[in-house]
Amino acid sequence: MCGIVGYIGDRDAYPILVKGLRRLEYRGYDSAGVALVNGSGTLSVYKTKGKVDDLENYCAEKDVSGQVGIAHTRWATHGEPSSRNAHPHYSESKNLAIIHNGIIENYADLKKKLQQKGIPFRSDTDTEVLVQFVEYVQQKKSLDLLTAVQLVLHEVIGAYAIAIVDKRTPDTIIAARKQSPLVVGIGEDEFFLGSDASPIIEYTSRVVYLEDGNIAVMKRGKELQVVNIYNTKLPHEVKTVDISLGQIEKGGYPHFMLKEIFEQPECLTNCMRGRINVEADNVTLSAVIDYKKQLLAARRVIIVACGTSWHAGLIGKQMIENLCRIPVEVEYASEFRYRNPVVGAGDVVIAISQSGETADTLAAVNLSKERGAFIYGICNAIGSSIPRATDTGSYIHVGPEIGVASTKAFTGQVTVLAMLALAIGKERGTVARAEYEKIVKELVSMPAKIEEVLTVNDRVKDLSRTFTYARNFIYLGRGYNYPVALEGALKLKEISYIHAEGYPAAEMKHGPIALIDSDMPVVVIATHNAMYEKVLNNIQEIKARKGRVIALVSKGDETICQIADECIELPDTIECLEPLIASIPLQLLAYHTAVCKGKNVDQPRNLAKSVTVE
Ligand code: GLU
Repeated sequence: MCGIVGYIGDRDAYPILVKGLRRLEYRGYDSAGVALVNGSGTLSVYKTKGKVDDLENYCAEKDVSGQVGIAHTRWATHGEPSSRNAHPHYSESKNLAIIHNGIIENYADLKKKLQQKGIPFRSDTDTEVLVQFVEYVQQKKSLDLLTAVQLVLHEVIGAYAIAIVDKRTPDTIIAARKQSPLVVGIGEDEFFLGSDASPIIEYTSRVVYLEDGNIAVMKRGKELQVVNIYNTKLPHEVKTVDISLGQIEKGGYPHFMLKEIFEQPECLTNCMRGRINVEADNVTLSAVIDYKKQLLAARRVIIVACGTSWHAGLIGKQMIENLCRIPVEVEYASEFRYRNPVVGAGDVVIAISQSGETADTLAAVNLSKERGAFIYGICNAIGSSIPRATDTGSYIHVGPEIGVASTKAFTGQVTVLAMLALAIGKERGTVARAEYEKIVKELVSMPAKIEEVLTVNDRVKDLSRTFTYARNFIYLGRGYNYPVALEGALKLKEISYIHAEGYPAAEMKHGPIALIDSDMPVVVIATHNAMYEKVLNNIQEIKARKGRVIALVSKGDETICQIADECIELPDTIECLEPLIASIPLQLLAYHTAVCKGKNVDQPRNLAKSVTVE
């Protein structure tokens, strides 16, 4: 959560910082700010409540000169969203300014101590203690900025990515990370800083992903220095990023979310590239080859994830149990990590996270690792914290996902889970060759089938207008489509703020049926599969109570189309891959409903993309 940008070099920093903030605005957008150090050693902080647009308006008449700067877009944890609490935060003397992503857990204690020493505070944030503390130790012990930062970080408990400038040393930015991502971009005599690579790639493809405990010293005209809090010099690897600008821009779509929904055929092709050999009907995941022994010996699989990734995990559970005959548990990472779970040697823990930075999932990974489990990561962001902390894993390769409501990452995760289940099932001999080949073939045809499903866009747009009145929605599905119902409901809640619940269709009788009346839209995934007749009965039960049924059906299903109020036809596929098809119209339904209601689809209230705080 929150976006961090920094620049030091010979160019004007302000335009680079603001453009960078726009690219990171998906991470948090309740307030934004910038600190600039100019040639005459002036440090100016401009910040305001609201979005990056508001910051730009606010700065329109201000002096934004300076070739050094740091900038932030906030997702408040401590202190309401307001100009006062927006970052950057000055130190008392206004010589220093800091930006921070994360939570300083012992901030109250540190704040009290600093207040007792007579230091006043201007904000309610946890962040301000850092900058006040750095200044305090600087003054008390006559320390340079780096040494003061190192000393302070010894005392800090919590998660952080920070960047700090000192107007008396205007040729330097210091950045540090612990459990929150930070990337340094290396240009010609200039450095860029970002929470991820997206604000950097326009200027350089050479980046260093900072590791936990790294402090980066970016000095104009000097090599990048990476040290730790003990001032030990640390090696750092310069990597090449291959994200193109087109991938992080809207490309003619009104919202990132719609662009990302429509990208899914291409994303799944990329996800399967080099992993499925069409001629040989074969799935090859390098992680399964390299770690065959550990994976085949699994006595149990535990999937840890949050939100949409947890829904993908529920689908993965069914795939792995069916194809590999290994018992699978799916856990909310946030619950698992605090429960003293029974996990250890012989368990394979699969951690799923789009950003690879989800704090709870990362903590669940570390806990499981400590207890001897083998860890497999399924992430999107290359080089992020979870892939670095796991024993092995597979990237989903769907490109940067910027829309806050996850779409293409979900289908990418399901695709990787399908490939993983196939690869392990084949090695274990638990999947018949004919079935294996059928699923592989069908996976390969998925991009074309999703392309076909996307043609329902206009139809879904029309019907979404009919349902904007609704205050509640129910989503029903069974088997592989039950998690799809959960995901459909989550999408609607996230961006349209309509309350929605996903249920296994058969559970309806055990409670939710009481909610059905003529105002209640019920989305039912009712494709032709083993559960068809049962789901058909559920639809009858809803109609008998005058509920309004929107049914997702297999092509040509006249029976359901005669009963349901609205029908969306889907191409046929095999049961375990239905989620890849059925989730698409539900993403579109959520999208168009939110747009019809005039909601900000890419920046839904209270949410942020990469949940780097617990
Ligand atoms: N905890 C800090 C605050 O509330 C930083 C939040 C963020 O990561 O945006 O200001």
